[in-house]
Amino acid sequence: MKHTYTYIYPPQFTSHRPWITRIISSILKNVTFLDLNNNSILNTIKSEYDAYCFHPIFYRKAFPTYFYSCLKSGYYNSLLDNISTDSILLTINCYEDLFLAKYLLSRQYRVCIGGPYINIMGASIIRNLLPYSIGNRLMVYEGYLSSYEDLSLLLSRWSDVKVYNDIDFSSYWNHKKDYYSGSSDPHSPIHIGFETKCNYSKCKFCTFKQLPYCSFISDASISSIVDNVSYLSSYYNTSVIRLIDSLFTPSQKKVEILSSLRKLDLYTICYSSIPYLAKLSYIEFLNLCTRSLLIGLESTNDYSLRAVGKGYTYDIIKKAISNIKNKLSRRISLNFSIMLDLPVGGVSEIKKNYDNIEKIKADLISSGFKVNMTYHPLSLSDNKELLNTTHYDCIEYSEEYLCGGEWVNHHIGQVIPNLQYVPYIRRDSSGNPIKSDIIYLMN
Ligand code: SF4
Repeated sequence: MKHTYTYIYPPQFTSHRPWITRIISSILKNVTFLDLNNNSILNTIKSEYDAYCFHPIFYRKAFPTYFYSCLKSGYYNSLLDNISTDSILLTINCYEDLFLAKYLLSRQYRVCIGGPYINIMGASIIRNLLPYSIGNRLMVYEGYLSSYEDLSLLLSRWSDVKVYNDIDFSSYWNHKKDYYSGSSDPHSPIHIGFETKCNYSKCKFCTFKQLPYCSFISDASISSIVDNVSYLSSYYNTSVIRLIDSLFTPSQKKVEILSSLRKLDLYTICYSSIPYLAKLSYIEFLNLCTRSLLIGLESTNDYSLRAVGKGYTYDIIKKAISNIKNKLSRRISLNFSIMLDLPVGGVSEIKKNYDNIEKIKADLISSGFKVNMTYHPLSLSDNKELLNTTHYDCIEYSEEYLCGGEWVNHHIGQVIPNLQYVPYIRRDSSGNPIKSDIIYLMN
C-alpha cells in the first residue's frame, strides 16, 4: 500500500519558519503541510488571552498554553479529523505536543513522531507516555534527520529508529525548498542553528539542556552557510534570522559566519543569558554580530532564582545590566523573558520582584535601548515540583489559588466554554498557598 503524508509542526512559534520544514520538504516528496495556526477559534482565544493578561511592564505573554487547552478541549478536532492522508509526521517540541499525537492516534491515523522532546526523553519513555492500544500505528524517530536519509524507505518500514551517528550536518545548509508556506509577514524569522545543547545547563525548569549535542557548523564551510542564509532571506522575503541555539556562546567560526551575514544587513536574533552578559568580553562579541537578544532574566528574587537553579543572583543581574548600559551597542534590541509563578518566599517578595523588573526596563529604555519584557507563566507539565514547594506529591485544587499558565486558562475558560486546565497551586516558603503573580501584577 502506498502511504500519503501530512506534516504538522505544532504552533508554538506562530510566525516562525522552522528548519525542519525545509529539511522534510527537501527529502520527502508529496508531503502536505497542515498549519494549525490558521484557526479562527485560536485567534479568538489569543485576543482574549492578550486582553486578560495585559500589563504595562510586559510586551506580551510568550508561550501559548492556550493552544494546548484548546487541543485538550476539542477545538481542533474538526481540523484534525479531516486530514486526507493516512499517515502523519509530527514534530514534538514539548510534553504537551504528545496530546496532539495521542489524539491523532485515537483517530486511527498512523503517526510518526520526532523532534527535540523525543531526543530529550528517549523513545522508550515516550512510548510509555502514549496509550498501549495503538497497535503499530506509532513510529518513533529518535535522533537527527540527515539530509541524505532515505526517509521514504524508513517510513515504509514503519518501525522505531534511532539516528545519532554519521549525520552530515553540513548538508543542512543546502536545503532550499519549503512546502510550508508559513506566515507572509516579512519580519517572520528564519530559524537556523549552530549547535544544540546549552553550555550553561543549570536551570531546573529547562528540558532543552538535555538535548544530545550536535554541531551544525563544524563540518560546513562558511561560504555554504552564508550562501544558504542569503538565499533563504530572499526566498522568504525577510531579513530576520533567529538562531535556535539554546544559548549563544562565542567561537571563532561563529564570529566569522555572523560577520559575513552582517554584510547582508540581516537582523540576527539570538539567545543570551545573564551570567554571560556579566562578562565584558561577551558583550564585545555580541556587538560584532547580533541585532537582538533574547535574555532569560526570569526573576530578580534570589529565593526564586535559587529554587529554579538559575545559578545567579540579583547582584549578578545588576552587573549584567550595568555592562549592557555601558558597553552594548544601542543597535541591539533587548527582549527579556520573565517567568511568572516561580516558587517565592512570600507575597511581599512578589511585589518587590515586579518593582525591580519595572525599574530595569525603565533604566534601559532611558539609556537608549529598545526593550521588551515577555512573560511566561510557569509551564506545568514538567514543573509540578516547582509550584508546590512543601507538598511535592499532591495536586491540589483551588480556583482562588490557581497558578501557572493554568490560572490564565481557567479565566479564559469563562469566555470560551469548556476550556480545560490543571488545578495546581503554589505555596510560599512557610507552606501557605499563594495566588498567581498575575493577580499581584494587576493590583
Ligand atoms: S540558560 Fe536557557 S537553555 Fe540553558 S539551562 Fe537555562 S533555560 Fe535552559
